Amino acid sequence: MPDGANESRKRATGHTFRALVAAGGALALALSPLSVHAQQPFDLVIANGRVMDPESGLDAIRNVGIRAGVIEAVTASLLDGVEVVDAGGLVVAPGFINLHWHGTDPHSNYYEAMDGVTSTFELEIGVADVDKWYDERAGRMPINYGAAIGHAPTRMAVMKDPGEFLPAGDAARKPATDAELAEIELRVERGLKRGAVGVGFGLAYTPAASTWEITQMFRTAARYDAAAFVHLRGASSAGSTDREQGLMEVIALSAVTGTPVHVAHINSSGQTNAARMLAIMQDARSHGVDITTECYPYTAGATRIESFLFDTWTDKPEEEYHKLQWSATGERLTRETFLKYRKQGGLVLIHANTEDVIRTAVAHPLTMIASDGFDVRHRQGHPRSAGTYSRILGRYVREAGLISLMEGLRKMTLMPAQRLEARVPQMRGKGRVKAGADADLVIFDPRRIIDRATYEEPDVYAEGMRYVLVNGRFVVRDGAVLEGVTPGRPVRARISP
Ligand SMILES: [Zn+2]
Repeated sequence: MPDGANESRKRATGHTFRALVAAGGALALALSPLSVHAQQPFDLVIANGRVMDPESGLDAIRNVGIRAGVIEAVTASLLDGVEVVDAGGLVVAPGFINLHWHGTDPHSNYYEAMDGVTSTFELEIGVADVDKWYDERAGRMPINYGAAIGHAPTRMAVMKDPGEFLPAGDAARKPATDAELAEIELRVERGLKRGAVGVGFGLAYTPAASTWEITQMFRTAARYDAAAFVHLRGASSAGSTDREQGLMEVIALSAVTGTPVHVAHINSSGQTNAARMLAIMQDARSHGVDITTECYPYTAGATRIESFLFDTWTDKPEEEYHKLQWSATGERLTRETFLKYRKQGGLVLIHANTEDVIRTAVAHPLTMIASDGFDVRHRQGHPRSAGTYSRILGRYVREAGLISLMEGLRKMTLMPAQRLEARVPQMRGKGRVKAGADADLVIFDPRRIIDRATYEEPDVYAEGMRYVLVNGRFVVRDGAVLEGVTPGRPVRARISP
């Protein structure tokens, strides 16, 4: 299937046609130095859309001119384009930046694209081999991509843990020897030298990692201006309900080492303690700790049943097991089936949270939106992989009026871009609609945008995205995903010797 940018280039070199997109005179030239070329038609003009930019606060009808994958003009004046998309009645916003994604199959990223995501990151768990991770994706990705070096997968590699994705053996349950700790540290540092965008910590999944071990990892991150992306230790792993303790641990680590901290999914890590934990984060920030968080808008979580999170689940009351849903079949579990599937291993959904907690998390000014999604398969998985962003915009912005559209967009674009900028200057060109920014854009119908994926049918595209551009090329066009286009580029920190 031809993608938009190639098509545009063909037209530009052949018989260029020009489309004047608004009545009026000269080109607007309040532009960057790039404007020396502004007399030539843009590769693409997004005309007459409601442009919303959370950084400048711009919310007005504008024309957007794109050339060579970069936004060169945002103006009320007419622009001349080789190709023109009429965005009348639609919102034009920065593409969404997902700081929490675990997918391995690029096909699943088309579901993200239909949900408005133009850059996606594996940060919370991270990866063990940064070069290999980026190499595997080169030229195959519809959207931009990046990863953290992961403490948990590194620990798994060093301690020869047999787990699939998350620790299931020694990496979860054994303290590291001095030699193992030295090797973990060396590998985490190597990952940072190879351009990992942060350091990931699944602390709930590696309970045997000592405070000293984690402190050393935070110190390593600090030397490279990398933030720590953390799944907190918490009630489900520690067997207590003192969830604040897991948060206090990372605040202390950040204060001691200077490493910025991003707390994964405060909705699921906080549960009914989420409001208190958000208040603690706010207090810590006011005393100089650089801490941020994110949430996904679903009352069920999902993880692997063989992981340490369920070590304390062997003698729960029967109704607790009923909160678990086996993803492969959709069945709710009993103690008996729980024990059976735990031996087998696989994905389980956990129906444990409340709508009140989700609303508290979504509305709080500290929370970004991040999906915690993973590979999308037929009748298996979690709807958050395909529906997180559209669900926020449809249900919490439009239907509930819980936050404004601009605030919702800010949580999906500018805030996550800023979280990565200290280490990845490339992110200063994302999360904004302005001259000089990357042409990662979403063009959607704010009256129609909605999630369609469910727990039973997680592989259903979201609705409402009319166009999605990644580096100036269409991945979604006329409301349909263009499967097979791969304009995604790596987002990576500087590689150091
Ligand atoms: Zn997590």
